[in-house]
Amino acid sequence: MNKQIINLLIRILGPKAVLFTPEDLATYSYDGTFVESNPGVVVLPETTQQVSQVVQLAAEKHLPVVPRGMGSGLAAGSVPFPDNSVVISLTRMNHTREIDTLNAIVKTEAGVITADLQAAVEKHGLFYPPDPSSIRHSTIGGNIACNAGGPRCLKYGVTGDYVLGLTVVLADGRVLNTGGEVIKDVTGYDLKRLFTGSEGTLGLITEATLRLIAKPQFTRTALIDFVSLENASQTVNAVLSSGIVPATLELMDQTALVCIEQAMKLGLETNIEASLLIETDGNDERTVAHEIENVVRVCEANGARSVKLAQGAAERDKLWLARRSISPSLARKAPNKLGEDITVPRSAIPEVIRKIRGISAHYELPIVIFGHAGDGNLHPNILFDKRQPDQWEKVEAMVAEIFEAALAVGGTLSGEHGIGTLKLPYLEKALGPVSIDVQKQIKTSLDPNNIFNPGKMFID
Ligand SMILES: Cc1cc2nc3c(=O)[nH]c(=O)nc-3n(C[C@H](O)[C@H](O)[C@H](O)COP(=O)(O)OP(=O)(O)OC[C@H]3O[C@@H](n4cnc5c(N)ncnc54)[C@H](O)[C@@H]3O)c2cc1C
Repeated sequence: MNKQIINLLIRILGPKAVLFTPEDLATYSYDGTFVESNPGVVVLPETTQQVSQVVQLAAEKHLPVVPRGMGSGLAAGSVPFPDNSVVISLTRMNHTREIDTLNAIVKTEAGVITADLQAAVEKHGLFYPPDPSSIRHSTIGGNIACNAGGPRCLKYGVTGDYVLGLTVVLADGRVLNTGGEVIKDVTGYDLKRLFTGSEGTLGLITEATLRLIAKPQFTRTALIDFVSLENASQTVNAVLSSGIVPATLELMDQTALVCIEQAMKLGLETNIEASLLIETDGNDERTVAHEIENVVRVCEANGARSVKLAQGAAERDKLWLARRSISPSLARKAPNKLGEDITVPRSAIPEVIRKIRGISAHYELPIVIFGHAGDGNLHPNILFDKRQPDQWEKVEAMVAEIFEAALAVGGTLSGEHGIGTLKLPYLEKALGPVSIDVQKQIKTSLDPNNIFNPGKMFID
């Protein structure tokens, strides 16, 4: 990045908030994928006003702006491709401003870590349900930008369902306040929904007002093992058709279980094809217990081999540690992974899992299958070695076939990780030309010079 721009940025932010040495740039060159590209400069603003001034400068100088939270994204959305990119990292805007217990809302800066916000509101008996597995290393801003989901979203909905208001810096540096503190609001277009899930391509979210609910007092958690993956996937539908809405219904296949066990030594059964991790919650202890008993009964009727009911918080935490450790544990099996995020109608889960296993067998590369099966959101992760060119070719073909399988049953490319760079070639196929055209018109009207996150979401 040229010296003049750096000096102008230092004038706005001070010298400690502008990073441009090769070592610093390298630490902002990647996200949760295997994709890397160095930015031109990184800035660490502390206020919306500073963000606005930086964006104004970038707009004047025609520099690309890449919004960044914690860089845990799984679609290469925050990887800064043009080498003159200005990465705006929100990690210093990490204050929870106000918890309003009467209205059950929280006002927060976008760089707050999701788990920290949850812990803060829970001290007041309130609950912020969205729980991406990256909860300890992703930001509220990143979660809103990707409309993140997580295990609890089966019962409680995704991040976007909790966004009441947003402060967004627009492509010309103006500050937009949209939505507010009220639950119902149809005053004009729902712009907060437009920015939610826009992956940093329409504006930069600096603050948010989020809806909270009362924290459920009781939970019961069960890990249910199946000899057959087919039976486990059929059981997902059987449980949900039984009239119970569990808080979570997660699936882990054998490779996932083996990798977790090797990495974490949690005592998981690995001589099985799959496990379901199912939790019920609520405010009446007997009802919650009754629901988990019914869930177990349905699982046993569908071929479950064994059931482990968590006795107390420590055992429950251990089961969730297992689930949250899948992604990092996979590194034991292969140096690289490509994690997909398809969502399919629940009834099609067994068929799609069968197809994915067929794809893995055909190309002779492992695909680990896990995910939020209760809402049809599966994460087939292809394990490979990027250094082997023939493996990369296979991976590309496998990804195309996985998307094909999802779209064929009325599914989508992404349930929660977003499009970013990695899914961009498949977007038109999934959405069709009219939808792409409308979306590009929205992008052009909000960001006519394409400064926000160029090269993401759409083929320019
Ligand atoms: C181990 C692991 C488990 C995961 N589990 C889940 C899961 O269960 N559910 C799930 O949904 N995701 C999951 N993810 C993916 C990822 O954590 C989420 O997408 C998360 O929302 C990204 O947050 P972040 O702060 O890291 O954002 P980043 O990765 O920094 O950015 C992600 C995207 O959002 C944009 N962005 C970031 N901040 C802002 C902002 N303030 N304003 C505008 N745009 C912004 C970026 O430009 C980029 O396009 C997981 C990732 C990992 C590594």
